[in-house]
Amino acid sequence: MTVSITTSSWRDLKNAKARARLERALPAIFPAPVLHHALTRPLIPPTPRLAVESYWRNHILRADRLARALAARSGTPEGWTWQLGEGGAGGRPASFRIPPAPFREPAFARGRGACCICGQPVYRFGWHRDLWGQGVPNGKAAWHAACVAAWKFWIAPHEQVRVLKRHQGHRCKASGKRLLRTAEVDHAVPLYRIWREHRDAPWPELLGYWGVPNLQVVNRTAHVLKCRDEAAERSQTLRLSRYRVVEDESGFSVVEEE
Ligand SMILES: [Zn+2]
Repeated sequence: MTVSITTSSWRDLKNAKARARLERALPAIFPAPVLHHALTRPLIPPTPRLAVESYWRNHILRADRLARALAARSGTPEGWTWQLGEGGAGGRPASFRIPPAPFREPAFARGRGACCICGQPVYRFGWHRDLWGQGVPNGKAAWHAACVAAWKFWIAPHEQVRVLKRHQGHRCKASGKRLLRTAEVDHAVPLYRIWREHRDAPWPELLGYWGVPNLQVVNRTAHVLKCRDEAAERSQTLRLSRYRVVEDESGFSVVEEE
């Protein structure tokens, strides 16, 4: 008991300080849901920026939706195609597992004040709308707080397994049974297939494959089976792509590609 009293009084003290700091730094205009969120946290974030970050981190599905909507506003940059870069060459991701981000590539970057993930203007505290009527983006900012939260979610969706489970009513997407504790996050359309079959889709649409529209939580047994099927399918394509059938006088011969 002593421990918990000490913890709670320590927290009260820390929160009183954090709240005072946050209120001192708060501008006259600040997104109301963010402030409400901050003041109801177990530990109050002590600055407006941290409050905004905490808000998106805790509303990850909203951040995912917003980042993709902002990307849709930017559209696919003229002349850009999804390519991989060996060792990150040209600012391109080295793997198809990383979502394509044209505005992170120097050739398409929009510079300071624009978000390097969605390409749209960034305002105070990494907010996506000009609530302050400043008319110009924040020249020091390079990303939206929402887009950073979304990006982290896209590259490590398993970290949000609890949120995703709740989102699908705790039912396994493969079997319809109740999700178990060991359930895993899965891409309904596996990422290698996005690269193989949907590479030329408009960029904002591609992002949907990393976001909620393509994420599902499935029980481990179902996931293991799905992964096995996918691995079999992949090795088969690999075999097909390594060998080429060539027509010649004798009929057909199979040539191994380099
Ligand atoms: Zn953004």
